[in-house]
Amino acid sequence: PFEPLASDFYSYASLLTEPERDALAALRDWLEREVRPIVNGYWERAEFPMQVVRPLAELGVLSYAWDETAPFENSPVFRGFVALELARVDASVGTFVGVQNGLAMGSIATAGSAEQRREWLPRMASGEVIGAFGLTEPLSGSDSARGLRTTARREGDTWILNGRKRWIGNATFSDVTIVWAKDEADGQVKGFIVPTSTRGYAATKIEGKISLRMVQNADITLTDVAVPESLRLQHADSFRATAAVLRQTRAEVAWSAVGTAIGAYEAAVRYATQREQFGKPIASHQLVQDLLVKCLGNITASLGMVARVSEMQGRGELRDEHSALAKAYATTAMRETVAWAREACGGNGIVLDYEVARFFADAEALYSYEGTREMNTLIVGRAITGRAAFV
Ligand code: FAD
Repeated sequence: PFEPLASDFYSYASLLTEPERDALAALRDWLEREVRPIVNGYWERAEFPMQVVRPLAELGVLSYAWDETAPFENSPVFRGFVALELARVDASVGTFVGVQNGLAMGSIATAGSAEQRREWLPRMASGEVIGAFGLTEPLSGSDSARGLRTTARREGDTWILNGRKRWIGNATFSDVTIVWAKDEADGQVKGFIVPTSTRGYAATKIEGKISLRMVQNADITLTDVAVPESLRLQHADSFRATAAVLRQTRAEVAWSAVGTAIGAYEAAVRYATQREQFGKPIASHQLVQDLLVKCLGNITASLGMVARVSEMQGRGELRDEHSALAKAYATTAMRETVAWAREACGGNGIVLDYEVARFFADAEALYSYEGTREMNTLIVGRAITGRAAFV
């Protein structure tokens, strides 16, 4: 049966239906049994545990969002809680799902034709096809709306792609990568479902990360990669389509930030109730309680925000600035929270064994990907002042 988390202090889980609660209970049970025990080792070796893909698919985690694949009717709030539960155990596994489900399948669901949805979504929901999302480039990160260098040239029914991508998650093992490129003819950004076996496509792993070490990020080069028109996302005619995908995934990253903060906070509570100093558990010292309560305050404020944003998404009211504010706020609060949780664990807070260190390190990547705090701030700033301040 589903147990609300103690850190869900104002009971946002009461927004969930019975089948949604059952599904979350099954997910949490699997995460605790199969994932939590192995993640520190994979994190340290900077490897991704591919054995999690099939159970994630079987649990429905890759299926919930779309009509073609959803096992039961479910809400964006539920899908937010799924992201929270994943990140609460491990943010890298959460990021794998965010890329496969939110960014790659989300691009096809948002900008693909009905036929493309039917062809790809079920195979990706089952884990048979793994996807990646290639927007960022070596010379274009925050300015990817205008600064993409990767080009697409149409020759009859074929598109020729040339360029480079950087930071692309899951891309060392993806079967397809959604590549965003500028059409040489009209200068607009278009999206392509590129099978990674296509000649001229090459991906190499980015080594040496200190955050989300399990996530396999790649540098990609595209050299005269030929893709048929049938693999161009049929409804992606400008960056507006890319932004529509990010509007939804940013809300999910905000949920993942809450989950990451909760993971660190729970580790700190566990530690503080066990560790004794000055003859009693450190949890009974006032200043340690202060750290824990500040963590819970951040988590509770963020959870209220993301739950509301997902309700708005369910009603079709979500605008770019809504998810941008949630992403900027929740990741900033997460970063503060994981630092306080780490502090409460003292020296043991910097070794993997006590878990808090992994959340502390992983928070940094969540803070910067899918739009940095600055970029999401500028999206909100534009909405409230009517003035774009990007350039
Ligand atoms: P830059 O754009 O170079 O920014 C550097 C700093 O300058 C930031 O603090 C930024 O906020 C600031 N800055 C830039 N412009 C302005 C401005 N106008 N005003 C104020 N401040 C500004 N990308 C993908 O396409 N697919 C993925 O799967 C993917 N996965 C990722 C996974 C990880 C672990 C990481 C770290 C990144 C991933 N990214 C991915 C890329 C990510 O989205 C970018 O790193 C992010 O958008 C920032 O771009 P950048 O790193 O080039 O930084």
